[in-house]
Amino acid sequence: MSLYDLIVVGAGPAGSGAARTAAKNGLKTLLLEKDQFPRTKLCGGGVTPKVLKLLDFNLPDELIERKVNSVRIHTTEHEYHFEKSATIAYMTSRSKFDHFLAKKAAEAGAELSDANPVYRIDTLDSRVEVRTRSGIFEAKMLIGADGMGGPSAREGKFYDRWKPDQVAYAIESDLPVGEKAVEDFVGPQQYFDIYFGVSAAGYGWIFPKDDHLTVGIGCKLSSLRDARALFYDFVKQITKLAGSKIPKPQAHLVPIGGAAIVPLVRDRILLAGDSGGFVEPLLGEGIYFSILGGQIAANVCTEACSSNKFDSQFLTKYEALCHKAFLDDFGVAYWLARSSYLEEDNMDLFSRFFLGEKRVQECIIGLLDGSVTYRGAQRKLSLPYFKYRLARLAMPFYSKRSLDA
Ligand SMILES: Cc1cc2nc3c(=O)[nH]c(=O)nc-3n(C[C@H](O)[C@H](O)[C@H](O)COP(=O)(O)OP(=O)(O)OC[C@H]3O[C@@H](n4cnc5c(N)ncnc54)[C@H](O)[C@@H]3O)c2cc1C
Repeated sequence: MSLYDLIVVGAGPAGSGAARTAAKNGLKTLLLEKDQFPRTKLCGGGVTPKVLKLLDFNLPDELIERKVNSVRIHTTEHEYHFEKSATIAYMTSRSKFDHFLAKKAAEAGAELSDANPVYRIDTLDSRVEVRTRSGIFEAKMLIGADGMGGPSAREGKFYDRWKPDQVAYAIESDLPVGEKAVEDFVGPQQYFDIYFGVSAAGYGWIFPKDDHLTVGIGCKLSSLRDARALFYDFVKQITKLAGSKIPKPQAHLVPIGGAAIVPLVRDRILLAGDSGGFVEPLLGEGIYFSILGGQIAANVCTEACSSNKFDSQFLTKYEALCHKAFLDDFGVAYWLARSSYLEEDNMDLFSRFFLGEKRVQECIIGLLDGSVTYRGAQRKLSLPYFKYRLARLAMPFYSKRSLDA
């Protein structure tokens, strides 16, 4: 049996990003994927411009179903429009996007084996042993990029399971409204939509694609009551969607990055992507951080192979690099998410006194297009947040006066 330098488990953005980088660095790399490509993956498919900067190849035009420049932010009482000239997000279908990234990993020299689920991982003194339906594979190291609930975190004993307040429950459906209706929906400004106040501790979205709209709603799992009812109520309130066919929604868990920092390394094993909790908690962006984390993991594995050091002590370098690159920002983004909607029980008040502020809306757009940093956002939002907290404290007084009047 041949010994690989690296086995990557899971060919989502994290796994394919890692496998391509490792193969380009000269590591003998095996990329194992449970499903057969092209496979479906529940996701909004919104790819921000910074993702393109991470890739050392262009995304072909046929993968980009729509480019959006503008956003409508809906709160309980108002609708705010932001028009930008540059693209804020590229709308893709994950089945095609992920298949393309996996092919790019293979093109760089990684051996891709799909329809081959991993069910057991053993760390031995001199190697990692991986059991799949088609046999046993061995490598010096392993990157676990198998998403939420994949085997790497469990088998590697990284953590037990995510707690309900550390994950969001996201439920989504593709509404086949047709190309003309999508055109009307986005308008000449190419809008997409975000809805606050449609769920406790969460928000909704409408992402326009070529001939359909991806409509979803996400909510912290610990605040969730009836997800399907929440989803249908959300769709029903959007008048433009009245009468549209709504295919049965599907749901998936998403880690709320920053809500828990899990260990990312054990001897010979590193976690990347959702399995390591690499989703930005304010806006829910995961694709960028998965690819970036996967690339960083592959570079650390390359160093480990050349220096023959595979112990967790050496590999903690990976944790430090991830913190510097994005995990420290997640701490700030988590604070922003908690201060804005994640722990908010009075969205009416919140919409009026916080989201209604122009400075707050500009910050949200700036975070989306990358022109505002998380630390910058924290500074900019402190004053509006303070004003909102004051309004909240004064509310019983105002309510009583308005009752007395
Ligand atoms: C409803 C929803 C909407 C979202 N919208 C967006 C968005 O618009 N933009 C954005 O940036 N992020 C979005 N996200 C987050 C994003 O989807 C994830 O952060 C991202 O997919 C994580 O990539 P990953 O490679 O870590 O994991 P995944 O994409 O989940 O890939 C993991 C891979 O591992 C494979 N696997 C699992 N188990 C095994 C096994 N036993 N053996 C072998 N392979 C295995 C899986 O089949 C899969 O291919 C959304 C998430 C949800 C749920």
